[in-house]
Amino acid sequence: MRSKFFLVATALALVAMPARAEPPSSIDAASQALVENAKVKAALETVKADDAAAFTEQKRITEIAAPPYKEKVRAEYYLKRMQELGFKDASIDSEGNVIGLRKGTGGGHPKLVVAAHLDTVFPEGTDLTVNEKDSTVVAPGIGDDARGLVALLAIVKAMNANGITTVGDIMFVGDVGDEELGNLRGMKALFRDHTDIDGFISIDGLGIDRVVNQGTGSHRYEMIFKGPGGHSFQEFGLPSAIHAMGRAIAKIAELQTPSDPKTTFTVGTVSGGTSVNAIAAEARMAVDMRSNSIEELLKLEARLLDLVKQAVAEENARWKTDKLTVEIKLIGDRPAGLVAADSPIVQAAQKSVAAVASGLKVELAGSSTDSNQPMSLGIPAVTIGGGGEGGNWHSRNEWFKPTDAYLGPQRALLAILMLQGLDGVTKPTLAVRPAPK
Ligand SMILES: [Zn+2]
Repeated sequence: MRSKFFLVATALALVAMPARAEPPSSIDAASQALVENAKVKAALETVKADDAAAFTEQKRITEIAAPPYKEKVRAEYYLKRMQELGFKDASIDSEGNVIGLRKGTGGGHPKLVVAAHLDTVFPEGTDLTVNEKDSTVVAPGIGDDARGLVALLAIVKAMNANGITTVGDIMFVGDVGDEELGNLRGMKALFRDHTDIDGFISIDGLGIDRVVNQGTGSHRYEMIFKGPGGHSFQEFGLPSAIHAMGRAIAKIAELQTPSDPKTTFTVGTVSGGTSVNAIAAEARMAVDMRSNSIEELLKLEARLLDLVKQAVAEENARWKTDKLTVEIKLIGDRPAGLVAADSPIVQAAQKSVAAVASGLKVELAGSSTDSNQPMSLGIPAVTIGGGGEGGNWHSRNEWFKPTDAYLGPQRALLAILMLQGLDGVTKPTLAVRPAPK
């Protein structure tokens, strides 16, 4: 039970999160000074002026395939774009993440990662042609996360064009493995290889009115029921893999879980059997469990796995045998985590919105994103939108409309500056984490 152990360790890490070394200077004061600064104003204008070019880039990126584990072509394109933006040392790491480091004047800290994911959910061979009708575009992955990828480039462009130097370092990352099958492999590698990261912002999703500060954890299993199998009439009396699975599903369907913290489960797919007149030798199901709380996720998991074993025991008992078995395979493992609403990173993500679109209400939300990984390690992290509107996520009919899309990178830029400090103008508000022992 590798994952279970990991999650318990994670829970302890969260509880033991170190106290901040120095009280950070106020986000409000930083915000005020930044919006009045001429360079910052000019940078926000650059972002707005770049809106149409960014949209064109978004469509171009969308048409470069990036299925799970096969992000390489898109990664190479993204690397080239980063190099063109001045990241001479940008590179692709061992897992496939594209990384460009923009140094500040503070000697390396605080270090903030700003990331968008390269991968899509769409398999190889999917038609990625961007269809444009009126002002709406339809294409798989056009918003998720091509929008985040271009928002990131727009931020760098505007910083460069206006001579913006931060105090803290910023690591810009186009990462792999965010979507389901990837299991956050890009993030797991990034935080394994760089133990000095103080904060993390993922640009994923659209609009600017949502700040994800809760990482919804998930555990997914494939369960394979196996029995002897045989003729439905001649060999009647043998246990059935399908009957055992049916017993298990009936029990799972009755589980009760809390609505707060939101905790959910479903048997997502089933398959099995060979013909109508055969006692099934094999049956499989895939089960998804999610929660905003590690404890609730583990509780649910323990109960559900127990019910599956009970179902197998009952099917064996029914036919006085022990021939029926179940193999339980963990196929998905995303850690859960939570960042306090009053932490500088959540505050910066919220207050930056007011600076570009006053009066807009921002909600805190839970979701499963790249931020889950740093959150589970106790590193302050949020996921914010890249601007614009859209829908039909993870479907071939995914759509995007560039309504006020520039607000995405504008807001992200302000949040970054609030956290990392503008050289000579504001101090960083993101706390430097103690070096790992
Ligand atoms: Zn995404």
